[in-house]
Amino acid sequence: MDLAKNKAKIFKSVEEAAEAENNTQGVNVIAVTKYVEAEVAHQLVEVGVRHIGENRVDKFLEKYHALAGQPVTWHLIGSLQRRKVKDVINLVDYFHALDSVKLAKEINKRADHSINCFLQVNLSEEPSKHGFLKNEIEEALLEIAELPNINLVGLMTMAPLKASQAELEALFDETYRLKEDIKAKNIKNMPMTDLSMGMSGDYLVAIKHGATFVRIGTAFFQ
Ligand SMILES: *Cc1c(COP(=O)(O)O)cnc(C)c1O
Repeated sequence: MDLAKNKAKIFKSVEEAAEAENNTQGVNVIAVTKYVEAEVAHQLVEVGVRHIGENRVDKFLEKYHALAGQPVTWHLIGSLQRRKVKDVINLVDYFHALDSVKLAKEINKRADHSINCFLQVNLSEEPSKHGFLKNEIEEALLEIAELPNINLVGLMTMAPLKASQAELEALFDETYRLKEDIKAKNIKNMPMTDLSMGMSGDYLVAIKHGATFVRIGTAFFQ
């Protein structure tokens, strides 16, 4: 495993894909460090990674404390139980898995500042997945708009594991269009400027459809 080499390769492919789409906003690469120890996460920072993501609260806290003082933007990307919100939410720069109104209310209550959140959507309607279904989104937005400590920066989605290329394209495109639709409504505390989608296997497709944050684990560590 050559972290510097993998990092260079991933960042280059991301930049090229963003350029090909005339994406002037840029695409942020989140290194998902759930497979590795804090020491390896630190090495990633040394080779130039600036965004670190973890999907579990305990692992997030471990890395966060081990890398204190490092120039890192911190992402909690996995589902969050309501009882754990108070342990972590004020340390997180971006929370990617806002998947219920109840969770939004708990975050709003525990936050000591406005928290950047992505609304997780399940547009492929997979029963096993977290995230709002299409027909739940409008009402959820109305309720979340009333919570001053939730700053909704965009949508997050995860593609089905076995999706074909065509299915991936359709899902990412639909997510992009939904994000644009919500953005156009100019709802308070909902800038909706970002899209968190794309993992090691599909990040180039996601960038093609407007991803601004890609969450990459495996490709860094092979
Ligand atoms: C693990 C994980 C990723 C990264 O997946 P890879 O396929 O290893 O790149 C992205 N997002 C979430 C929510 C994850 O849990």
